[in-house]
Parts: sequence; C-alpha cells; structure tokens
Amino acid sequence: MSMADAKAMDTEVSWYLRLHRALLPDYNRKAAAYWYTGVLLGGAVLVYCLHSLAARPERTWIEVALGVAIAMLAALFPVQIPRSKNSLAAGEIFIFLLLLLHGPEAAALASAGEATLGAWRISKRWSSRIASPAMAVLAMFASGSLLQALRGALDSLQLTNGGLLIVATMVFALCYFVCNTLLITTVHRLKRSEPLQLKDLVGVFGWVGIIYTGSAAVAALLYLAFRESGLGVVLAVVPIIGLLMMTLHYFFRQQEANEAVRRTASEAAAREAEAATRHMEALQHIAFHDSLTGLPNRHRFNECLAEAIGRSKADLARRFAVLFIDFDRFKLINDSLGHSAGDEFLVQAAQRIRHHVRPTDVVARLGGDEFGILAENLEHENLAVTLAERLMRAIQNPFVVGGTDVTVTASIGITFGSTGYNAPDEALRDADIAMYKAKENGKARYAIFDIGLHAEIAQRLRLEGDLRNAIANGDLSVVYQPLFDLGSGGLIGFEALARWHHPQFGTMRPEVFIPIAEESGLIISLTDLMLQRACRQLRDWQLRHPRFADLRMHVNISAKDVGHDALVPRVTRVLRQTRLQPRHLTLELTENILMEHIRNSLPTLAKLQALGIGLSVDDFGTGYSSLSHLSALPIDTLKVDRSFVRDLQSGSKEAKVVRAIVHLGMSLDKAVVAEGIENAAQLAQLREMGCTRGQGFHLGYPQEAKAVRALLARIVADSDETAVEATFEHTAALL
Ligand code: C2E
Ligand code: MG
Ligand code: MG
Repeated sequence: MSMADAKAMDTEVSWYLRLHRALLPDYNRKAAAYWYTGVLLGGAVLVYCLHSLAARPERTWIEVALGVAIAMLAALFPVQIPRSKNSLAAGEIFIFLLLLLHGPEAAALASAGEATLGAWRISKRWSSRIASPAMAVLAMFASGSLLQALRGALDSLQLTNGGLLIVATMVFALCYFVCNTLLITTVHRLKRSEPLQLKDLVGVFGWVGIIYTGSAAVAALLYLAFRESGLGVVLAVVPIIGLLMMTLHYFFRQQEANEAVRRTASEAAAREAEAATRHMEALQHIAFHDSLTGLPNRHRFNECLAEAIGRSKADLARRFAVLFIDFDRFKLINDSLGHSAGDEFLVQAAQRIRHHVRPTDVVARLGGDEFGILAENLEHENLAVTLAERLMRAIQNPFVVGGTDVTVTASIGITFGSTGYNAPDEALRDADIAMYKAKENGKARYAIFDIGLHAEIAQRLRLEGDLRNAIANGDLSVVYQPLFDLGSGGLIGFEALARWHHPQFGTMRPEVFIPIAEESGLIISLTDLMLQRACRQLRDWQLRHPRFADLRMHVNISAKDVGHDALVPRVTRVLRQTRLQPRHLTLELTENILMEHIRNSLPTLAKLQALGIGLSVDDFGTGYSSLSHLSALPIDTLKVDRSFVRDLQSGSKEAKVVRAIVHLGMSLDKAVVAEGIENAAQLAQLREMGCTRGQGFHLGYPQEAKAVRALLARIVADSDETAVEATFEHTAALL
C-alpha cells in the first residue's frame, strides 16, 4: 500500500474514530467502554445537578457559586505531601460543606470544578482531564446522596445531635474516598487487563483517607457553626484555613528541602565511597599486576601460590605444579630490534601463554622475560609436562615483532606441590633451578625439579665462592699451548688457557669453572688476570731471544667481556703495562658469542682491530655465522673447531667442512687455524688441504710457563744454526 493510499484511507475514517484514537490510544476495548460510560454518566449527572440547582433560590446560587469558587481556588494551591504523590487541598472542606448545606448536586458541581483544575494541573492527557471530573461527579453524587439519605433517616429518628452529624459526615467521606478510588483505579486495571485488587484501596489510603475524613470533620463543624451563626463564621474560617494550609505548605517545603539536602549528602557520600572503592581497586590492580602485560606480578603470584600450598596441605589429593618459563634469546630481541620491540614481544608472549593454559591456571610475569604458571587441581602430574610441551610448541611459532618475524624458544622448569613446600618462594626457587637445568641441558626444553638439583645448586654456589677467592688471591694458573705454522713448522705463538687447582677437588677444567665465572660476573676479573699474566709472560719470552720477538699470544675472552663497555681500555692498559705490541695479542671469542652479540660488539671489535689487536673466531663451524657477517666482521683468524679435526678421515663430511673453511679463509683473507690436531695423519691431511696454522696435542700440549721457558731455551740451544721455523717436530719430541 502506498503512502497516498494510506492517507486517503485515513481521511475516510470517521471523525469520532480519529477522536477516539487521539484520546485513548493505549486503551483496550473494555477500558475504552468503561471510560466512555464513566464520562457519559458523569456528564449526565452534572447536567442533572445544574438543572436541579437552577430551580433553587438565588441565595443558594450565590452560596454554591462561592463554594465552587473557593474549592477551585484551593485546587490551584495544593500542598504537596512529602515523599508522596498526593497533595492536600483545602477545597475538600468547602465541597463537603456545600454537601451539608445544599445537598449532593452542589457538592458534585464543586467536585467537578476542583477535579477539572486538579487534573489539568497534574496530567497532560485529555483522557484523564476529561475522566477525572466525570468520576469525581459520580463519586460525589453517589456518596453525597447516601449521606443525604442517612441524614434524612437520622432526622426522622430525631437524632439531630451535632456529634452524630460529624460521624456521619466522616463515614460519608470514607465512602467518597472508596468510590472515587475505585472509579479511577478500575480504568488502570482494565487497561492492563488485570482484576481490581484490595491493595488498590489500601495502598493509597494513608494520607488521602486522613485528609478526606479530617476535611469531613472540619466541614461538619463549620456547618454546625454556620447553622448557629450564619455565613459570617464560614467566611471567617476561610483565612484561618488558608493560614493553616500555608503553614503546612511551608512546613512541608522545609521538610522537602531537608530531605533534598539529606539525599544530596547521602548521594555525595555514596559517590565518594564508590570513587574510593574504584581508587582502591585501581591501586590493588597496580600493586598486584604487571603494567606491561596486565598479568599478575610476582607479588600476586606468591599470594596465589601460598593459597595453593595451604589447600594442598588440607587436602593431599589437590596436586599443583609450578612452571617457570624463561625465553632463550630474549636479550637478542632487545639488543637487535630495540626495547620497544622487546616489550611488544613480551606482550604477545604473555597472550600466547595465557591462551594455552586452562582458565583456572594463574599466569604471572615474574620479571624480565620470566613467566610463572600455577596449575592447580592436576589429576596427574603428567599434565604439567603436557602443558610445558604445549607451551614450547606454541612459543616456537614465529612472533611478528616490529614487522619482523622472530623465532624464539623457551626453557621451562617444573616443580610439583608434592615436594612438600611450606612457603611460595621455596616452590618458585625450585622451579627456577629446574629452568636453569633446562638451559644447561641445551635450552628449548623443560626440566623437572628433583632434590638432586638442590645439591647441585649448593655445590655450584660453593664453587662460585671458591672461584671468587681464587681470582682475588691470584690462585688461578695459566698454561700455554703452542701454535704452529703448518707449512714451515715454525712456532707462531701460544694460546693461554686458564687452570684452577681447587684445594679440595683438585684441578678443575675450564668447561666447569668458566660458565660459573660467566654467570656470576667473575669472568671480567678472570679475563683481566689471564690478560695480565699471558701478556707479561709473552713479553718475557719475546725478550729472551730475538727469534722470539714476534711470538703471539692468544687469550680467550667471553660474551660478558665483549658486552663490557671498558673492554678496549682494559686491554690497552694491560698492553701498556706489559709493554706488549698490540699486534702480538689475539683475542679469541667463540663463534656463538660473536653472533649473539654481533650488533653490540661490532664497535668494540672495530676499535680493537684499529689498535692492531688480532681477533679470532674460536670453535668455528659450530655456530651460525653467515657469510655476509663473516666478511663484514673485523676478524683475522678462523679457528676450526676440533670436532672437525677429530673426524678428519679423507672423504668424511668433516673433511669437506674443513676444506670449505680453508677456502673460505683464503677468499676472505683470513688465517685458518686447525685446533685439536692429535696425530700425524690429521696433520698431513690439513697440510694437504692448505691449512696454514695448527694447534693440538700432537704438536704441543698446553703447559706451564716454566716448561715453555725450558722448551724455548732448548730450541735456542739446539737450533743455533737451524731456523726457529723448523721446530714443531722438534718441540713435539721435546714435550
Ligand atoms: P678453546 O679456546 O677452544 O681451547 C682449546 C681447548 O682444546 C683447550 O681445552 C685445550 O686443552 C684443548 N686442546 C688443545 N689441543 C687438543 C687436542 O689435540 N685434543 C683435544 N682433545 N683437546 C685439545 P681447555 O684448556 O680445557 O679449555 C677449554 C675451553 O675453555 C677453551 O676452549 C676456552 O673456550 C675455554 N677457556 C679456557 N681458558 C679460558 C680463559 O682464560 N677465558 C675464557 N673466557 N675461556 C677459557
Ligand atoms: Mg680458544
Ligand atoms: Mg676452540
């Protein structure tokens, strides 16, 4: 149907239907029927009343008009009862007075007037502006007629006592209240298709009932006074009632104002309390959460862990596990992509971990790149292992950080509540120890804590203390392994290797104590000690005979040294103190260290090279150097890892690797040293491949300075005529 059609149809609709829709849009059939009946009946009664009043004498007319006017005037100034929708109007008194004076017709007229004004004031709907006076007329006419009949009965019984009249008027007022209320509430109930209920009457009684009966009593008193003393008394009472109403009005207004102040104050207090709660919650969140990832922090994690320990003690079946996660190459992300990329990675990692645990598991950031998981209610401890495996797989998927794909691994330490913890830090410490074990075992794996690890840690801590003392007391010793030119057989120099003779455990291998020194930070003073001793020693040997003046010294440095800002000044100071030429010193650092710290270490290495100090990549072939890096790095020597030399049968894979490294060295203009040469066959093969330098037990063991000095002396003595160059077979025989 088009809009025009609809409009045409609308104009066809009769005027009364349109009026009906405008007046009673939300009325159903029953309610509408009731409304029309009420309004028509009310209208009819009003016409009847006017008609019957018209027949009365003029004096009645004047009194009725006066009464109606006062009632309507009073309706304009109602006194609102606090905390109620009802208001108090003095009009009722005069309406009731009119009822007593001139019967229900006059009172109905006054009610109509008062209700019209009242409805006009409180409602915008025409339905109620029309129905209110109609219902008031009906209620007043019905109950007024009842009172009139009652009075007639009393009169005929000659019961004209004033008290009885007052009581009768009050009964009438109640009757009027009931009629009026029922007439009005019936509309509402019909509209909602609900039956009338007793509470419709009882609920609104209170104030309204009291006003009605009170007004009735006053009206009856006024009537009695009027009968005694005429209209003057009534008119005199008008200002008194006005005064009373005004007093009430101001009293109520004051009450309302107080109420408003109280309400505002209590609302303000409620708002303040709410703000304080929000503030407290925010503070709590800050205190217990990590600001970067939004995860609970170590503090909160400890709290949860303490609760879990308590629960598992109360109920042994409640198993829990603590997982300690540490990323294996987080430092690399920070160093190579910057700190904001590091933060971005941590946020993503946190989300990924959270995603792969159960909703009930607690995931916390413990600090740096360390995360903790508390998994409670484990049916079986194996589930914690499954969780660790799942997390490792999830973490191994590349992260996109700052637009770059980043692949990382994590090491996870696991400990179980069944170990019998009393405090959260015990559980966390053990999970941490297990995580270190995982790292030690090669990273990218998990390790489960067992009591044996405790002993290991205790031993490690003890060794760390002993090593600190040994370095401070200069108790470390240095052994020197000769390096030879494989072509000429000439002695090129030595590699200085650290040795530690522990008073209780005997000679300790560098593989054991160097990692301890690196982790504890002792490596810086260890390197300084080695540099001092080795450089001084070499200078001493160089000065022994002009033939040794160009011997070199190789000293191993570690990752921490490369990252140490003061490496260049440290090295130059040693060179100055020992008067060694920079070109006679070579620093060795392993391929892995070099590649992990490539970004940070480049400037330092460049400075060292500029000073003339040699740089050698140790254990070459085991790491991940790329060709582009190799050619750009300021290094002059590649040291082939001894694992390749060990398996150097011709045709082996290792042989191919060594040959490739030799060629690489040649094309990049770097010297290649083969280490770990243990027999003549290996030596012959390396020579055949074109490897220019070598080191190994077959050529010379690492030995103490005293032994080397004796060796140097013999070389000088034995080969006064021969060149130093022809000595490695010679020295091998001597060693
Ligand atoms: P590296 O720098 O690769 O040193 C060579 C290692 O190979 C030495 O072990 C040496 O004794 C051993 N070696 C030499 N020739 C042969 C051979 O023919 N066969 C076999 N099987 N081994 C041979 P060492 O002294 O035990 O040192 C081990 C590692 O400890 C060194 O490897 C080096 O990375 C580190 N290290 C030693 N001293 C220091 C130091 O003062 N500072 C630092 N940072 N690391 C050091
Ligand atoms: Mg070395
Ligand atoms: Mg090596």
